[in-house]
Amino acid sequence: MPQPGPAEVLVRVKVCGVCRTDLHVIEGELPPRKSPVIPGHQIVGVVEKLGPGATRFRPRARVGIPWLHSADRTCEYCRAGAENLCDHPTFTGYTDDGGYAEFAVAPEDFVYPIPESFPDAQAAPLLCAGIIGFRCLRLSGIRPGGKLAFYGFGSAAHLAIQVARHWGVEVYACTRGVKHQQLACDLGAVWAGEATEAPPAKLDAAIIFAPAGELVPPALRALKKGGALVLGGIHMSPIPQFDYDVLYQERSIRSVANNTRQDGEDFLRVAAEIPIRTRVTLYPLREANRALNDLKSDRVNGAAVLDGAA
Ligand SMILES: [Zn+2]
Ligand SMILES: [Zn+2]
Repeated sequence: MPQPGPAEVLVRVKVCGVCRTDLHVIEGELPPRKSPVIPGHQIVGVVEKLGPGATRFRPRARVGIPWLHSADRTCEYCRAGAENLCDHPTFTGYTDDGGYAEFAVAPEDFVYPIPESFPDAQAAPLLCAGIIGFRCLRLSGIRPGGKLAFYGFGSAAHLAIQVARHWGVEVYACTRGVKHQQLACDLGAVWAGEATEAPPAKLDAAIIFAPAGELVPPALRALKKGGALVLGGIHMSPIPQFDYDVLYQERSIRSVANNTRQDGEDFLRVAAEIPIRTRVTLYPLREANRALNDLKSDRVNGAAVLDGAA
């Protein structure tokens, strides 16, 4: 049983979303920071115990613990409002134990209240897939009426498309597998095809969620002049060489790293307003490995969530 330190809360985990980053941690694509470590950073649960000086939540409050476990609040990035780029961050389920467990501990300032309208399992994928997808949308600069493509249509894209549609954006889904393409169309995509296929219109922006560097050149080729390509993953296979004219005409590429607390608060508010519907497959906590294997082999449509009570 972990114990909450100063200004921390102990949370009884109800459910924990499964994220591709968990696979990157477990399979060593991200360098180990704590070993062994309990993965999982989309935790929904209730406050079980307050650490010394913790005052933000009452016992039994329903809360969510996200990927950004803490930031130092003092480095140049934190002071500039970019705590997602903090020089000394900690991450749930990576540098600190996460939510594939009955209990987890987190600093109270980095924990979110969960909007009441979301049941536990539906709320979990909002905490990373949702928030990161939202940050990707923001950084893509997409505007109402614009054309946007998602490369890879998993947990993050199936939430981001709902925000994009709410904003009046036309969405194209470039993804492997008929089931993922069908889900995209069900959620309002105007077109769905293979990831390497050229969408039928030139795009204002594209977001790559798949960890596949080989998608960068085709995604750039799909952009209009001045279009933006956003890379949403924490890890990606090498990007192949491409000719400068693929990038020329003021096309841009940028990555997205982590999230600020403000991103999370803004997204959870928008998600409740829309309201976003998450497509969830539940697995008992003891079958975490089956959930991870299903994610790895593209067998999860929407988001996988571990159910601590099952
Ligand atoms: Zn910092
Ligand atoms: Zn994640």
